[in-house]
Formats: sequence, structure tokens, C-alpha cells
Amino acid sequence: MSEVLELPKQDLGPASGFLSKTVQLFIDGEFVDAASGEIFETTNPATGEKLADIALGDAADINKAVDAARQAFDKGPWSKMTPSERQKILYKIGDLILENADELAYLESLDNGKPFSVARAADIPLTADLFHYMAAHARTMEGAIIPVSDIAVPGAEFHAYTLREAIGVIGLITPWNYPLLIAAGWQMAGALAAGNTIVLKPSEVTPLSIMRFAELAKEAGVPDGVINIVPGNGLGAGTTLTEHDLVDKIGFTGSVRTGRSILHTVADGNLKKVTLELGGKSPDIIMDDADLEKAIPGVAMGIFFNQGECCCAGSRLLVHKLVYNEVLEGLKKEAEKIKLGSGQSDTTDMGPVVSQKQEDTIMSYINSGIEEGATLVTGGKKVGEQGHFIEPTIFADVNRDMKIVKEEIFGPVLVVQSFETLEEAIEMANDTEFGLGAGIWTESLANTHQLAKAIKAGTVFVNCYNVFDAATPFGGYKMSGWGRNRGKEAFEAFTETKAVYAKLN
Ligand code: NAD
Repeated sequence: MSEVLELPKQDLGPASGFLSKTVQLFIDGEFVDAASGEIFETTNPATGEKLADIALGDAADINKAVDAARQAFDKGPWSKMTPSERQKILYKIGDLILENADELAYLESLDNGKPFSVARAADIPLTADLFHYMAAHARTMEGAIIPVSDIAVPGAEFHAYTLREAIGVIGLITPWNYPLLIAAGWQMAGALAAGNTIVLKPSEVTPLSIMRFAELAKEAGVPDGVINIVPGNGLGAGTTLTEHDLVDKIGFTGSVRTGRSILHTVADGNLKKVTLELGGKSPDIIMDDADLEKAIPGVAMGIFFNQGECCCAGSRLLVHKLVYNEVLEGLKKEAEKIKLGSGQSDTTDMGPVVSQKQEDTIMSYINSGIEEGATLVTGGKKVGEQGHFIEPTIFADVNRDMKIVKEEIFGPVLVVQSFETLEEAIEMANDTEFGLGAGIWTESLANTHQLAKAIKAGTVFVNCYNVFDAATPFGGYKMSGWGRNRGKEAFEAFTETKAVYAKLN
């Protein structure tokens, strides 16, 4: 059974300099206190100890930030810079992220709980790569020349073309599971490459790494007002940003509940554009011809990576009946091998979940699984007195009506079901209101392509899981969201297309 390692006294490592002072808001190129003078605390989920005081932004600070972003877009240099000038600055941000990777990864690990090794190998280099990738996109704001034949104007000749333009001021609202990667990498890099200006409200649960990022963006030469970052609560800072008439688009990543509330606000307001990256309950399918030596650890990683706090976590395992027992036994061993501990310890595989609130949510799902009659194969308990550690948990003998099968848990909890035919696997995989990710484990090309085509999900992983490249689009079918992050789709989503007709005769 997994055990919590002894938790050493909190070690701030390379983040100690940044954490020695109150962390301020970043508005119009300056680090400032909140207008109200209020602050809030962020704590270490492994120990419960305080990490830092943060200025608590609210409506007044968001209004100031939007004014700065509006000014920088309408009059400032950013949207009027040449693409190559923007490209150089964005590339420099990517370089500075890499130069400061240890500190950023440490901040991420302290604030979110994830292992430093995960943040150092994934969150931080992927964020840098997104800046390098989107920097190149700054040079691709291309339109097209379009041959037209307007039959309503006989004899007329036109030169018609499209212009691709920045949208304006983008409001970003982001969650706590990949605090820097989602806020800076998935959302901000593409928006900036297209020439937009930004007001970001990061998650109040994990504001540290993005505020250190603000210092790096300033150092890279981002002009004042182009990036504004205001940590604060959803109700207050978040709602003000969503309601604001001078904001042209909201890029949101978070829960379905908040996504829906943003849509209501926008529908009653200025109808700004909206992109939503929401939740998931992603199926991971093991066929009877799968290489189980790869599939079993692969499925375990697909759910337990990042404490299961991944929007596309493979949280519903569907296993062919012929290999069901062998897979369940193997997965139990994999789960029980996982070492829980502080994210800053070298021997930790899985850290604490992010907060008391998240711990309570996950434990209430585990209890509901037990009450609804599912078989607890392993795990199921909170571990230790200190911090928010939950054992990697596997439930078998579940059915499609159980809450643990239908709803997103966003923690280290896997539910396992069996099937007998490909058709049944497809039907079960699609039996969800979500459509973010899916995994397929098979040695058969026919199975691969039939499943990849039939599953309604934005990303399908074949004989792998949790692969995230800057160039591939990421987003959801069904209730998992609207639009895509990453890749050229994300860049284009931060642009408007204008058609121009010039009459030639
Ligand atoms: P959340 O919806 O509670 O909060 C997300 C952000 O929205 C936070 O910054 C929060 O302060 C803000 N917010 C809350 N209420 C608001 C309101 N009424 N108006 C405006 N802003 C508001 O989500 P969370 O708990 O931070 O993150 C977990 C959720 O995010 C999970 O459902 C997970 O699946 C989802 N997620 C999705 C993706 C994806 O790419 N699809 C990635 C990461 C997380």
C-alpha cells in the first residue's frame, strides 16, 4: 500500500527569493498592490504551511487592467509592431522560461503539490515550447486572394481578399492544475502572437508561477499594458472580467459549471467571443490484442499522473473481458507501487491533491462509489494527518449509472468496466456527456483506426497517454468545451477574418 513519506520541513529551494516578499498584481507594466489593499495567502498542499501573501485583485483592479490592455491594443505598440518584432519578444519569453525553469518548477510544485520532477520535465518546458511555437505563428497572419463572381453586379470586376487581424483585448480565466502551462502556454502565447493584449485572472489557488512569469515577460521586453495579471476570486475579479464591455474575447479553462456561468454572462452582455476548455471523463480502452506490459503501466500513468488532476485523465478504463482479470491485477500492483510524498522530494511519484476543497470532493466521490456498491480494488483512503494525500484508487464492478462512472472526479480514481465486442467498447466509450480525451491500447491497425474514428473526443492517444505537443490542437467535443487550445487552431481562434472587396471597374 502506498505510504506518505516523511514530510521534511518546508524547503522553498530556488523559489525562496521570489517568496520572500508579498506578490503583487501586474498592471500596465508595473507591480502594484490591490486597490483595496487586501491580500490573501497561498499554502503548500503537502504541509498546509503558508507560502506567500498575494495581493487580492477585485473589480477595481480588473477595470484598471482592462483600461491598460485596451489602451495598449488601440494605441500602444503591440498590435502595430511588425510580426518579426513580436516574434522576437515571444521567443525571448520562451528562452527566459527555460533559463528560470528550476525556479518556476519549484514554485509550481510548492503551490500545486505536483512533483518537481513533473513540473521540470513537463509543465515548464512545454510552456517555453508554446512561446517558441507561437512566436513563429506571429509571421503567419495571412489572408487569401479570393476569385469572386458576384452575380448581382453584372459586369463588375473585383479584387477580393481576406485580412486576418487581432481581436483586441482578451480576458483569460484559468485553473490550478497546470497553472503556468495553461495560463501562459495554452492561452496567452497564441493570443499575443496574433497581436492581442491580455488581462489574465489566474486561479486563486495557485497564483505563484504566473506572477514570476510576469517578471520574465517584462524582462523580455513586452510593452506596458500588453500583459496584465490580476489574481483574485472567481466571483469578483472573474465575473468583472467576463462582464466587461471593453473585453473582446474570453479564453476560459476550468469546470463546466463556471463555463456555463460565463456563457450566461456573455449572452446578457456584449456577446464577446468565448473559447471554453472544460472537464472530461475520458475512456481508456484495452483490447484483447493489446501489449499488456505497455498497456497496464500506460493506463496507470493516464489516470495517476499529476494526482489525477488532468482534464483529459483516462479515468474510465474499458477492458476486453478476455484480459480483464490480468489487467486488474496488474493495475492494482502499479497503483500500490506509487510513492506519495511532498512534491519537492526526489522519491515522490505522486504529490498531494491541490487543496482541502479538492480533497473533500475526491473523498466524497470515493465514499459514493463504496455506497453505490462498487468493488474497491485498491486505495480509497486519505493518507497521513498533514496535507491532502489520497491513495491511488481503483474501483471495479461499476455500472454506467454510478456517480463515479458518470461524473468528473478530478483526482486519482479509476473506474474499470469490461466489454466483449468492438461495438460495445465504442458505445461505452461514447456513453458520456464529455468528449475531451481517449486512449486505445491495441496491436491491431484495424482496431486502432476504427476506434480512433468512432470515439467522440478531441484527442485520441494510441498506445500512449498524456502526450501534449505545442503544434497539436487540444479541446473538447460535447460538454468538454468550445474551440481548441494549442496548434494553429488556437492561434486562429485569437484572430478575426475580414473580407475586402475592391471594385476595379
Ligand atoms: P473552476 O471552474 O472552479 O475555476 C476556474 C477559474 O474560473 C478560476 O480562475 C476561478 O477563479 C474562475 N471562476 C470561478 N467562478 C467564476 C465565475 N463565476 N466567473 C468567472 N470566473 C470564475 O475550475 P478549477 O477547479 O480551477 O479547475 C478544475 C476544472 O477545470 C476541472 O473541471 C477540469 O476538468 C477543468 N480543466 C479543463 C482543462 C481543459 O483543457 N479542458 C484543463 C484544466 C482544467
